[in-house]
Amino acid sequence: MIVHLKPEVTHDKALALGVELESIVLPRDGFYALITSSKLKKLEDKFSAFVAETFPFDDDMQLASKRYIHGVREVKIVDNISIGGTHKNTLMITGPCSVESEEQIEQCANLCIEQGVKVLRAGAYKPRTTPYSFQGMGLDGLKLLDKMRSKYGLKIITEIRDSTHVSEVIEYADILQIGAKAMYDHGILRACGKSGKPVLLKRGFGATLQEFVQAAEFILSGGNDHVILCERGIRTFETKTRFTLDLCGVAYLKQYTNLPIILDPSHAIGFAYGVSDLSKACVAMGIEGLLIETHPNPAVAKSDAAQQLNFDQFRTLNKELIPVANAVGRTMI
Ligand code: PEP
Ligand code: MN
Repeated sequence: MIVHLKPEVTHDKALALGVELESIVLPRDGFYALITSSKLKKLEDKFSAFVAETFPFDDDMQLASKRYIHGVREVKIVDNISIGGTHKNTLMITGPCSVESEEQIEQCANLCIEQGVKVLRAGAYKPRTTPYSFQGMGLDGLKLLDKMRSKYGLKIITEIRDSTHVSEVIEYADILQIGAKAMYDHGILRACGKSGKPVLLKRGFGATLQEFVQAAEFILSGGNDHVILCERGIRTFETKTRFTLDLCGVAYLKQYTNLPIILDPSHAIGFAYGVSDLSKACVAMGIEGLLIETHPNPAVAKSDAAQQLNFDQFRTLNKELIPVANAVGRTMI
């Protein structure tokens, strides 16, 4: 249950009520909210003097629920870029899987500028499936991303692999990406909850929708309202494609949650040949953004080589998406 306390309830009283109701105390605009387990359906009468409004729920999808906030939350990436809210934007995010060198990331930054893309993606700390493959450039990679931001005015999204470098990534990134394998990392979720920066939370490939949204609840209930959900494919019995992009899940998230949704078809299919068609299907669903991996020469990419688009493929796709977005009342930004 979410309990909105009356504005006159003091900080100390809110904390005391929080202890009594075994809940999280969240400062809101001019009042405190208590977030209890969804098992609590009704408050005892003794609390009524302090309570302005209550929101009971069927399950622990609470702050993220459309029953709490009816529309899609607005997430401000920076001052002039927002998604969700009343904006009918679909934000394009592109860049390589990993920062590999200054030359490579600068080529990608130039593609963004040429194509009007405002947010550059690239990982510096890579969560690989084997310790023997490229693990990312680490802090040096973050510094190169930072350089691209200052030189080209691009916004940067990069991932946090584990809790050892959360503060580093928070310092360098404009959007914090929590990868599929990190979705359950509570150190990362809690640190992102304390940061004021937008967080793109990817769905673990073995996570149910309920588990995915509950991971988002850790960030929201930590005090960070700027959470974006990212579907990037789940594991099914199918082996011909890398993962299975769960568009039914996206329909569910759109219907029942208030969080903006960004889709990642690159990691879902795992092969460049399908990224363009899938991207159009994603945009046609009326979503807040798309994350596409591109590389100046995908064949030599140090990670996720098979799925990255080359620049010409990206240019074609970027153009073809405009009418698709327009057809569902949205604008590609
Ligand atoms: C990535 O974005 O490069 C990445 C590692 O994604 P995921 O966490 O979805 O596997
Ligand atoms: Mn990747």
